[in-house]
Amino acid sequence: AKSDGRNGIAFFESEMQAQVERRLTLERDLAAAMAANELQMHVQAQVDRNARVIGGELLMRWPQADGGMVPPNVFIPVAEESGLIVELGAWALRQACEAVLRLQAAGLAMPLSVNVSPTQFRQHDFVEQVQRVLADTGAPARLLVLEVTEGLLIDKMDDTIARMHQLTEMGLRFSIDDFGTGYSSMAYLKKMPLYELKIDRSFVMDTPEDASSKALVQSILAMAGHLGLRVVAEGVETQAQADFLIAHDCSSMQGYLYARPVPLPALIQRLQGGTAV
Ligand code: C2E
Ligand code: CA
Ligand code: CA
Ligand code: CA
Repeated sequence: AKSDGRNGIAFFESEMQAQVERRLTLERDLAAAMAANELQMHVQAQVDRNARVIGGELLMRWPQADGGMVPPNVFIPVAEESGLIVELGAWALRQACEAVLRLQAAGLAMPLSVNVSPTQFRQHDFVEQVQRVLADTGAPARLLVLEVTEGLLIDKMDDTIARMHQLTEMGLRFSIDDFGTGYSSMAYLKKMPLYELKIDRSFVMDTPEDASSKALVQSILAMAGHLGLRVVAEGVETQAQADFLIAHDCSSMQGYLYARPVPLPALIQRLQGGTAV
C-alpha cells in the first residue's frame, strides 16, 4: 500500500545493506579458506554408452566447519566478482594436473576436465600459467580438457580464439560448457578449436518426455556429429534419459545415474574395485 512506501524503502535499504554484508563476509571467508588450503576438488565420472568411465570433471568444494558445504553456485560468482577466481582457478588447474597424474599412476590414465572462468581465461598471462603448471607437475597436456562457457565470447572474440589456438597447440583440449544457454550466435563454432560440447542439464532434464527439450538435444547431437565434435550430456539422472541420449549417438554422459562427484581416491577405488560410487 501507498502508506507503506517509506517503510518499504527503509526495509529495502536495510535488506540491501544486509546483502552487501553477507557478500563481504563470504568473500573474506573464501579468501581465508583458500589461504588455509581448505578447498577441495571432487571428481565426477563421465561414462560412455556402455557406462564405462572414460573421464571426469573436477568440481570445487568448500567444506564448512559444521560439516556442510557452500555450493560452488554460491561461491564461484563471488570469487568471479572479487577477482579471487584468478587464484582459485590457478589452484584448480594445478589440482587437475595432479589428479591426472594420480590416475595415471594408478594405471587409469584418462582425460579430466576442469572449469575455467572467463576472468581466469582473460588473465594476460593465462597461457604462461598453464605452461608453468604443466612444467611444474609434469602432467600431459593431452589429458586436460578446459571447460569454458559461451560467456567468453562476449568481447575480444579474436583474442579468445587466438589464445585457444595457442593452448590447443600445447596439446590441451576445449569443451564448451552449458552449451546453448549463453550465446545467441553459433558462428563461433566454426572458428574455435573445439573438442567437445556439453549439453546443459536444463535441456537433458526434461528429456525424453518434453518434446521441445527432446528436439533441442537431438539437434545439438546432430550438429555436433556433423562438426565432428564430441558431446557430453550433463545431469543425466534417469535411464530413460540415458537411453534417449545413446539412441542419438551422444558420446558421453555425466550425471547422478552413473556417479556423483566424489574425492579422487573414491573414484580410483571404484575403478580398481569395480564397486559403484
Ligand atoms: P557445471 O560446470 O555445469 O557443473 C555441473 C554441475 O552439475 C555440478 O554442480 C554437478 O555436481 C552437477 N550435477 C552433475 N550431475 C548431476 C545430476 O545428475 N543432477 C543434478 N541435479 N546435478 C548434477 P556443482 O559441483 O554444484 O558445480 C556448480 C557449478 O560451479 C559448475 O557447473 C561450475 O560452473 C562451477 N564450478 C565448479 N567447480 C568449479 C571450478 O573449479 N572453477 C570454476 N570456474 N567453476 C566451477
Ligand atoms: Ca563444467
Ligand atoms: Ca556444465
Ligand atoms: Ca550446467
